Amino acid sequence: MADHAPGRLLIISGPSGAGKSTVVDRLRHECPVPLIPSVSATTRAPRPGEKDGVDYHFLSLEEFHQRRESGDFLECCEVFGRGHWYGTLKSEVAAGLAAGNWVILEIDVEGAMKVLQQSPEAITLFIHPGSMEELERRLRGRGTETEDAIQRRLEIARHELTFAPRYCHIVENRTVPQAVRDICRILTRIHEGEECSKN
Ligand code: 5GP
Repeated sequence: MADHAPGRLLIISGPSGAGKSTVVDRLRHECPVPLIPSVSATTRAPRPGEKDGVDYHFLSLEEFHQRRESGDFLECCEVFGRGHWYGTLKSEVAAGLAAGNWVILEIDVEGAMKVLQQSPEAITLFIHPGSMEELERRLRGRGTETEDAIQRRLEIARHELTFAPRYCHIVENRTVPQAVRDICRILTRIHEGEECSKN
């Protein structure tokens, strides 16, 4: 028998540009809850610096659908506005949970709803940019995107924000250290036995 507490699924969603990845990365290193990421599969191409098996399992469209047909995914979808498939592999989740870890699924809102249907006990957390105006300010502040790309991201974000009320915890990301602190406080309380009334 395992000599550790059972693992948990932790679903984290939120519009990109809200600083989600940075927050999740810092959380893993700074929060005293046994957090590990689930490495998703995707059909999109790696960005500079991204490594196969670390950032994502990069698959061709054909491989992705073969694995989908074999039942390898806990959830998968063509993510809204991205034009690419993304999916959570059952193998990633199973290994983490079996070791007593809290497995982080950093996934989009539709994928999150699919996981919740199968695993209603999953912890759900939405990282909120504060307002659309704030998100737009941040996207423009990066200075790296065309007007078209900014408009596209804002459209995706508006869609994602409509799902926020379905999450058990909503954390506004005013600054990265504050968001990490707020989320860590929530996770620590859950670790000590508190549950979400929505679950
Ligand atoms: P990116 O291409 O910028 O890394 O991610 C784009 C979007 O895909 C993000 O909203 C991210 O949360 C979502 N995503 C990443 N992995 C998965 C996954 O396994 N399943 C689902 N449904 N969405 C994912």
